[in-house]
Amino acid sequence: MSVLESLLPGKNLLHIENCDIDEAESTITVKVSSVQTKITCPICGFPTTKIHSHYERKLADLSWANYSTSLELRVRKFFCINNECFRRIFTERLPSTVIPWARRTIRLASQLKNIGLALGGAAGIRLSKQLGFNASRNTLLNLVRKIPLPLFDSLKIIGVDDFCFRKCKTYGTIIVDLETNKPVTLLKDRSAETLSSWLKEHPGIKIVSRDRARAYEKGIKEGAPEAIQVADRFHLLQNLAQTLYEVFGIHSKEFKEIEKIRNQSSVVKDEENIVVSTIPTLAPAPTKQQKKAEQRRTRRFEKYQKIWELHSQGWSAKAIAKKLGIGCTTVFRYLRNPTFIERRGRSDKGRSLVTPYQDYIIKRWNEGCRETKTLFEEIKQQGFSGSYTTVSRYTTRLRECQGLKKRQRYSTKRLPKIIKPSKKPLTPYSAAWLILGRSDEEISKSEQEELIVLLKAQSPSLKEGIELAQKFISLVRQNKYGN
Ligand SMILES: [Zn+2]
Repeated sequence: MSVLESLLPGKNLLHIENCDIDEAESTITVKVSSVQTKITCPICGFPTTKIHSHYERKLADLSWANYSTSLELRVRKFFCINNECFRRIFTERLPSTVIPWARRTIRLASQLKNIGLALGGAAGIRLSKQLGFNASRNTLLNLVRKIPLPLFDSLKIIGVDDFCFRKCKTYGTIIVDLETNKPVTLLKDRSAETLSSWLKEHPGIKIVSRDRARAYEKGIKEGAPEAIQVADRFHLLQNLAQTLYEVFGIHSKEFKEIEKIRNQSSVVKDEENIVVSTIPTLAPAPTKQQKKAEQRRTRRFEKYQKIWELHSQGWSAKAIAKKLGIGCTTVFRYLRNPTFIERRGRSDKGRSLVTPYQDYIIKRWNEGCRETKTLFEEIKQQGFSGSYTTVSRYTTRLRECQGLKKRQRYSTKRLPKIIKPSKKPLTPYSAAWLILGRSDEEISKSEQEELIVLLKAQSPSLKEGIELAQKFISLVRQNKYGN
């Protein structure tokens, strides 16, 4: 019995009386009784030896090998012999085995809690069953919920940010201890009132890091007026990316120029191969639509100038809106940006109906099929829904790249092979992340550097903007203050 006894929880306090193995059910039932000698009343702490009665509790325990195990625990009830104590009879406690009223041992509850923490209810219960523990989903979740929250008695530096219960619908606030990098609490919303009342309950906070949200600014001012408010690195860099995006947005001309340079430099790779850009090298004559877009831009620009003119004369946003016959929101939107923002180009820029068939066309072209009509028929079979002209525009470009004349299909010279470029066009958005070193495009480090050099070379103000941004980034990332 000694081996079995050492497997018991609280082994020095329990004695095995009997052990039943049910092979068919794969269960072990161990009958144990308490042998602890020092009994004290849980209320007054007075020692006693006066037994009142015995009773049995059934406790689930950890599995032994492949057997689900339960303990039939025989415990005693005692009289409290302290005349001043209000408790007359009590059950003996076995603090290393089980907590009062529980139906499982402490060590089983602890395992279930770990499973619940790692996997949650549904998945946790599947694993528990596999391990031979008999528990329900709610048991797991209740065990997790009962874990006491860590105590943070001396919070000094905290971070405040929002998180979403449902994106764009309901948000809460998370508070993190920035000295230990551990979450402290979750607040039900992201209002100034909730944050300020939490801060009032936790005095002594010296520094609060936050994003630009006005509500947090107000909440901190009210709840912890002594605390210094700072912006964290993540939000500083996020704001920088936004600013860069706006700056790049007003340099659309320069971005077009860069595209041209990139395309030209990629046309001839070597004597064997030619890379053909998907973007036309020559801008087509302005179409009706483009002319209209140009007119719309002019109108927007005039509106922008007018709003800022009135604003600088001290007009309120409301008055400006009334005077110009536009909405207040529009006025605010224009006033948020000190420089005129160009409309973002179409996200499908450089794409046409031919794009999905370009690989096929280039393959056939390199094989020697330079008949637009044949190619048109072939891709039509594959589901192409565009016109003959669209295909013909593309084949004309292929012809131009290889130095063939209009409608020329054969050449006595050996023609270089055509390759599709893999580069995506540079947009203000991708350029902003390029400067931040978080470009998601699959381009090498050296290419990224080349692009930045190219950007800087376009105009003095772009150069200045990028250099300021780079200084700021190194300051934020490497804690280089005072440089
Ligand atoms: Zn007592």
